[in-house]
Amino acid sequence: MNTKSKSMFGDDKNPSNIIPRKYTMDSKIKFRCHPGVSCFTACCGNINIILTPFDILRLRKYLNMTADEFLLRFTEPMYIEKTDLPGVKLHLDEKGRCPFVTPDGCTIYPKRPSACRYYPVGMANFHEGGEEGVDSEQFFFVVKEEHCKGHEEDKEWTIREWRADQGVDICDDMNRKWLEIVMRRKSFGFQATMSEEAKKIFFMVSTNLDKFKKFIFESSFLDIYDVNRETLDTIQNDDIALLKFSYKYLASCLFGTQDIPIKDEKIKKRVARMKEEQAGKEANADETYKILKEERDRLMSASKK
Ligand code: SF4
Ligand code: SF4
Repeated sequence: MNTKSKSMFGDDKNPSNIIPRKYTMDSKIKFRCHPGVSCFTACCGNINIILTPFDILRLRKYLNMTADEFLLRFTEPMYIEKTDLPGVKLHLDEKGRCPFVTPDGCTIYPKRPSACRYYPVGMANFHEGGEEGVDSEQFFFVVKEEHCKGHEEDKEWTIREWRADQGVDICDDMNRKWLEIVMRRKSFGFQATMSEEAKKIFFMVSTNLDKFKKFIFESSFLDIYDVNRETLDTIQNDDIALLKFSYKYLASCLFGTQDIPIKDEKIKKRVARMKEEQAGKEANADETYKILKEERDRLMSASKK
């Protein structure tokens, strides 16, 4: 069995499992997954299921756990495919099975992760986009793996109907900005280094909104960032608003966007410090020039004697 078949990032899929065709929202597919298929739950093992921040939030609420409890019990750390960004995936049991699978199916089905919902239909602009604000063509592809008998079922629907049935639209909305950040980072390639501090921030914000909230309200965050009272009240009480705010923070922090403005006095201080450093460099250059000139004059007068 392909161990990466449910990954939502696409790049590590075996291309031979992807039907070589572009699908649109109105394209039709024949597929049905239900407890009667001979392969039922076959795809819930030996698999990488990367969790998005929205997946983690939704799951740990469903399971009535704190973010820390959920992360410790059900996940393990990994790097998001072809990036140096640390994230988490579901921790499989000793038999390589998803911790939520039973012979009767998925015990967290209503809140199952995004990757499980998308399968077997992938959205191509998640894989080819990346630049924020740059639209990429949206199309879909279908993964057809030998072990998956759902493709042999008679049920026919459009991609639009399939996605509505799986409840992927909400996942798309909630994951889009985070995936853009991941793809943007991926487009930089490995040669672009990222500080350990930035990686830690990415991990904390992407996996643990409890900690991110503490970071906002109990650190020097609000001394640096200009966040209005209304936004603060909202993110204090609304986890989805906090999640969306976290994406803005990551974009500001990793790519220097102005999604969350830095306070004026902080900018002024930074500009003053840069000017000071520049003035220091200029003074050093003047000093070096003076020394070199004196040395040259000394050598020239010595050669005339
Ligand atoms: S979360 Fe549910 S659907 Fe996804 S792999 Fe686990 S058991 Fe299967
Ligand atoms: S039909 Fe495909 S998606 Fe459904 S259980 Fe079988 S392998 Fe998994």
